[in-house]
Amino acid sequence: MESEFKELVLQIKRYNGKESDIDLLSKAWEYTKLSHLNQKRLSGEPYASHGLYTAKNLVEWKLDMSSILAGFLHDTVEDGKASVKEIKEIFGGEVAGIVDGVTKVSKVKLRGSKDEAFVENLRKMFLAMAKDLRVVFVKLADRLHNMRTLSSLPEEKQKRIASETLEIFAPLAERLGMGEVKAQLDDLAFPYVYPREYEKVTKESLLHYKDAEKFIRKMKRRLLKKLACDGIRAKIDGRKKHLYSLWIKLERPGIDWDFNKIHDIVALRIMVDTVSQCYSTLGTVHNMYKQVPYFGVSDFISQPKPNGYRSIHTRVFGEGGRVSEVQIRTHGMHQQAEYGLAAHWSYALAKTKGTKEKSLDAGIKVDQEKFGWVRQLVSWQEEIKDSEEYLRAVKFDALEHRNFIFSPKGDVFDLPEGATPIDFAFTVHTGLGDYIKSAKVNGKLVPLNYKLKSGDICEIIKTKNPRPPNKGWLDFITTKQAENAIKRKVGK
Ligand code: MN
Repeated sequence: MESEFKELVLQIKRYNGKESDIDLLSKAWEYTKLSHLNQKRLSGEPYASHGLYTAKNLVEWKLDMSSILAGFLHDTVEDGKASVKEIKEIFGGEVAGIVDGVTKVSKVKLRGSKDEAFVENLRKMFLAMAKDLRVVFVKLADRLHNMRTLSSLPEEKQKRIASETLEIFAPLAERLGMGEVKAQLDDLAFPYVYPREYEKVTKESLLHYKDAEKFIRKMKRRLLKKLACDGIRAKIDGRKKHLYSLWIKLERPGIDWDFNKIHDIVALRIMVDTVSQCYSTLGTVHNMYKQVPYFGVSDFISQPKPNGYRSIHTRVFGEGGRVSEVQIRTHGMHQQAEYGLAAHWSYALAKTKGTKEKSLDAGIKVDQEKFGWVRQLVSWQEEIKDSEEYLRAVKFDALEHRNFIFSPKGDVFDLPEGATPIDFAFTVHTGLGDYIKSAKVNGKLVPLNYKLKSGDICEIIKTKNPRPPNKGWLDFITTKQAENAIKRKVGK
């Protein structure tokens, strides 16, 4: 474990971490070990290792110091001996806030359901809890490590956690534009949720992957040479299609398990410095390899995908006439495609602010729809170069206007500002309004005129027999629903 920690420190040092940052990391690591003293994971590993690996994921996504520290500490309150208060004293309010958010998210029980509304609620929940979006990043880093160690859990738990990952966490990562993280979560969950299908795809794709890699290597060599002649410094990768997304594609009616119809089983990914180099590289590619007619070029640079993804995709007759997909993007776009919104809090970015990243490509058009606000977050990321300012924008404009209150079962209700447990009760069910005895928020008894805050978990303690509502409630309730119901019963 200690060598893993040293490796993490080295990684941070490479981003020019300050000495004081390194001290903080050591402090967080010692604190984590102390809080989880003598606790073990089901895998037999010391519990603190889970904090360490969660932090490692966050380092990999290049998140800022507060997120990384929170990654270490994220379970020390819920499962260890620490308290949010103490974390605040030692590591400051920002870190404590993230840890508190993660703890709250973990407390809400997610009932297994494929119901779309439920998934939608869940996404809302995360964002409500995430007064600070970094809570979601830590939660995703936590889930990623849990998925990697899933084999040591009992079988029925494996299946439940893996389905939840596939249905909720992977789509969440996708919404946040973290394509690589989404793909990793999918692939980790795949064998647990669909074991037979997983086996079939693995077996049947093996040769195709190998074959595709061979001729992609050839293309890579030729292209690198040509681009160098043109004076373009490019990095080229062969990107293997992730197994789960390959399976989804194979299942499509138009494809029906015909591997010859899948042209991106290994795609060629070219990364260059600037947007104009993307377009001249496209010219070079088409000059060397004939374009496949009708498929055309998808230009997600001028027209980004809803989650902010940008790249140019084209299909050409590659080496030996084989149809191959080529993706062209800048390094900045690549970073964003892999880590999405997380890229904004980039540790490296904070350190080199104002230098290289300033040229971070053109803006994104925002159109409002179901997830318009996520898109907006992505576009703000482009428009607002200052991290602090962005954070403020995210906190106030996207999330503060929403007031999501949770039932103890994890259902989410969108209530207006200043709503009380009475409003909550009538929103959950008019019938519930007839049984209000008292209310608990986050496990503690509160007065009935208590003003609920976003992220609160509200529980109505019921009377044995129905009881008419109190006229006095009309003085402090805020929802029409409660008002109507009360007036109907007390007769104005
Ligand atoms: Mn955890």
